[in-house]
Amino acid sequence: MKKRYNILNAAILVLSLIVFLLVSVNIVATINQRNMEGEIKNYLSITEEIYDGTNMEDVADKIHKANSKLRITFISSDGKVLYDTSTVSEDNHLKRDEILSLGKVFHRYSKTTNEKMFYVATYLDSYSLYIRVSMPEESITDISNSLITYGSIAIILIGIVSIFVMWLISKLSVKPLKSEISKLSDIVGGKTLYNGSDIERLSYEIDRTRDLIENKIDDIEQEKKKVDYILENINHGLIIIDGKGKIIIANKIALTIFNNLSINDSYNSIFDENIVDAISKCMVEESSFSIEYENYVINISSLNTAFVKTAISYGVSMFLYDVTDIKRLEKMKLDFFANASHELKSPLTTIIGYQQLIQNGILVEKEEIADATIKTVKEASRMNQIISEMLELAKLESDKKEDKNVLSISHVTDEILLSYNILLENKNITLVKDYNDFDVSIASNDLYHLIRNLIDNAVKYNKANGKIKITISDNTFVIEDTGIGISKEDQERIFERFYRVDKARSKENGGTGLGLSIVKHICINNNIKIEVSSALNEGTCFKLTF
Ligand code: ADP
Repeated sequence: MKKRYNILNAAILVLSLIVFLLVSVNIVATINQRNMEGEIKNYLSITEEIYDGTNMEDVADKIHKANSKLRITFISSDGKVLYDTSTVSEDNHLKRDEILSLGKVFHRYSKTTNEKMFYVATYLDSYSLYIRVSMPEESITDISNSLITYGSIAIILIGIVSIFVMWLISKLSVKPLKSEISKLSDIVGGKTLYNGSDIERLSYEIDRTRDLIENKIDDIEQEKKKVDYILENINHGLIIIDGKGKIIIANKIALTIFNNLSINDSYNSIFDENIVDAISKCMVEESSFSIEYENYVINISSLNTAFVKTAISYGVSMFLYDVTDIKRLEKMKLDFFANASHELKSPLTTIIGYQQLIQNGILVEKEEIADATIKTVKEASRMNQIISEMLELAKLESDKKEDKNVLSISHVTDEILLSYNILLENKNITLVKDYNDFDVSIASNDLYHLIRNLIDNAVKYNKANGKIKITISDNTFVIEDTGIGISKEDQERIFERFYRVDKARSKENGGTGLGLSIVKHICINNNIKIEVSSALNEGTCFKLTF
């Protein structure tokens, strides 16, 4: 391929030179012809001038001596050659072109001299004769021939030199080309198997490289999509600051938290003073800080990664964690302990009080001591109940799972109801049962606690002469009472620990405020839906869907 290019280039060059040479020869020949025509006409004028009608031989010889190539012919008015510096021709010359058209130069082959000649003639009236001057074309041909000869030699030499120079240039230019090809091969991977010329191989390698780059761009785009997806879907805010202090990455959550933030902003124009201080420290030395900001904890750390750091500063990453739930849980825990302590403190105070009265001999009468003992035992039982229910709640909140049993819901309900016979009788509560039994797969402890708490409340918060209706069907357990009811606002809170609508009433009935919390946990743990509907003073309905 390379050789072909060189030959083609050289051929074009040589062809151009040949055309140039031919055009030059033609131009030179034309110019020479014109010069010769002028010259021959000059000689004719000189001859005409110096001829005085006497000695034509002398005149002709003088001119001939001045230019040996010239031929001077004197012709009589009837066409006969009177004198000729060359061979005298016997032919009549009146019909010759130069005689017929005087003063005009003609160019033709001469039989007399056997060569191509230029002719021009004039007529001298005073001597009644023609003078003709002729000159061989040879001088023009000579110039043209030598021009062609030397030109051709020059062209051949130029052709050879140019082929050599082109070969040398292509050789030198191919060297870096070859190294580029092997570099491309290295990038694409492995040696090329393509067996063409260097240029063809280069184009082949460029194609391979382009394919590789396209694939790499696809890969990078895919990776970028993944990173963007992760950044946008992590539950935390993320901000990256480069070593120049510019925010270069901020995900959606970060932008929501700091709504005045834009990419490329400088960090010190965005954040609070303490955050700015921490970032500044992380930029100068590898360190990390944890700062609270509203409902977030921000972890600020130095980033010693090439794409963010500069020669003098580190980049910085900021992770923003939402701690609203943690704070709420902490508050819940604190509330729980406060409530638990409070709930336990009042029976304990009562117990201690009665015991001190007995100990200090203040209560001495048998009846008084018996009454104090009954009250002490009641308060102790209450404490015991609170502690058992707290333990039950703690158990439900732990991951410890009890074995499940398949239990008949109506059987469990009836068994629990047995222990409420006296209470129902005392309050004169009518019990209505509508059972269409189904089995439930659940830890038996959980099911007993669940049903017992709901029945207990329906009895506790019912009115005298009231009614309780229990309906079991279609995977639902519904318990309705005609009790005191729960207001809309309280319905939202009754599942909270220790929450009681009427504390005194609940306490009187032996309530702890933990029953419905236990119910809620059992429902969550066993995927049971619980719904409550109630109207004040009309009654309450709890519905469980298993
Ligand atoms: P307690 O031990 O006080 O009964 P629970 O957690 O079982 O605690 O119930 C929380 C509160 O919800 C009760 O104190 C009571 O005010 C209200 N409540 C629960 N069930 C009923 C019901 N069937 N009728 C009216 N109020 C109820």
